Amino acid sequence: MSRALSNLQIDSGRLWGMIHETAQFGATPKGGVRRLTLSLEDKLVRNWFRSACEAAGLEVQIDALGSMFAVRRGRDMNKPPVGLGSHLDTQPSGGKFDGVLGTLAALEVVRTLNDAGIETDAPLCIVNWTNEEGSRFAPAMMASAAYVGDFSTGDILSRKDAEGLTVGEALQAIGYRGDTPVGAQRLGTFVELHIEQGPILEAEQKTIGVVESGQGVLWYDGKITGFESHAGSTPMRLRRDALATLSEIVLAVEYIAKKHGPNAVGTVGEAVIAKPSRNVIPGEIAFTMDCRSVDEATMDALDGDLRAAAAEIAARRKVEVRLELIWRKAPTHFDPKIVEAVENAAELLGYSHRRITSGAGHDACNLNTKIPSAMVFVPCKDGVSHNELEDATQADCAAGANVLMHTVLALAGVAS
Ligand SMILES: [Zn+2]
Repeated sequence: MSRALSNLQIDSGRLWGMIHETAQFGATPKGGVRRLTLSLEDKLVRNWFRSACEAAGLEVQIDALGSMFAVRRGRDMNKPPVGLGSHLDTQPSGGKFDGVLGTLAALEVVRTLNDAGIETDAPLCIVNWTNEEGSRFAPAMMASAAYVGDFSTGDILSRKDAEGLTVGEALQAIGYRGDTPVGAQRLGTFVELHIEQGPILEAEQKTIGVVESGQGVLWYDGKITGFESHAGSTPMRLRRDALATLSEIVLAVEYIAKKHGPNAVGTVGEAVIAKPSRNVIPGEIAFTMDCRSVDEATMDALDGDLRAAAAEIAARRKVEVRLELIWRKAPTHFDPKIVEAVENAAELLGYSHRRITSGAGHDACNLNTKIPSAMVFVPCKDGVSHNELEDATQADCAAGANVLMHTVLALAGVAS
């Protein structure tokens, strides 16, 4: 690589400006963003993004699930494009950086290459994936999953939000039901820049996380059936208390995740008493469990231990505990060549870096099942994300965008 090229840097102020400009679409009073997928705010940010991509000379296509693909021509249009991007939707009370950084940094990379007059061999393709967050429509990351064939387009289009509106209707309403068939836009590789959403890089004062893996996920729906009875007149030894049972299960999940640590986490995130009343012993509770590990064998061990613990607690307390595994996602092991390209770019630019596992799910994890992929992480303040207080520094955002750019240049090839 020539000296001039290895010194190429993105425009940090321009990237920072874009992040703050788009944060106006769905801005919350505390400085966060509320931009649920396929909402009016999502339409506005998509319109902004499409105009910005077209102004940068990109050809924008929308697929049948609303994902946006913006192609920058390469010297050899027979080569599949190098994909880069993330998502522009947010949690109901989300931050300015989650997803946004990776999508806008991709645009900034293209603007920088345009300004420097650099043509790549393979084309580049910026992607804004529909519904990464999964808070309005389930499942999360549905568009990238459909892109690699894990779901049919029709299945995803028929998914409903809490109001009963389908994905298809919501796409229609904001004008983003495109005509490109899902999966038709080719991608040769994919690189996603994202904030870490965890505390490791900040604690170790590293600028770049070279993401080599992502955790596998186990999701359960649970139901406890005990017996409702009078809180005053039922002796303690005769109770079949669903909430006391759940309390034991919550602590068992915590104990089991710690036992299989450090590469395991477990959470009971939701619990609903069917007919709550101050003076009734709870008889029925629905709850959810989320367990994760980067190691498939550990996932099996978690599953086995959780089921054994639930059965033991149920038998002892004479209640019924049903655990249904509703989703199992295998751990992600990103493509070694793409991971190496990210590491080389961080090294070339002189940023401190370390290899890291993603605790959260990302579109790049879905894509990696079919397309060689990897991710770049930058630190976020106190590891906080999915929160209006989410924050990252301008310098770290720029560093991540520079690593993204040099990774993409290495993958796409530059004529000498
Ligand atoms: Zn995200």
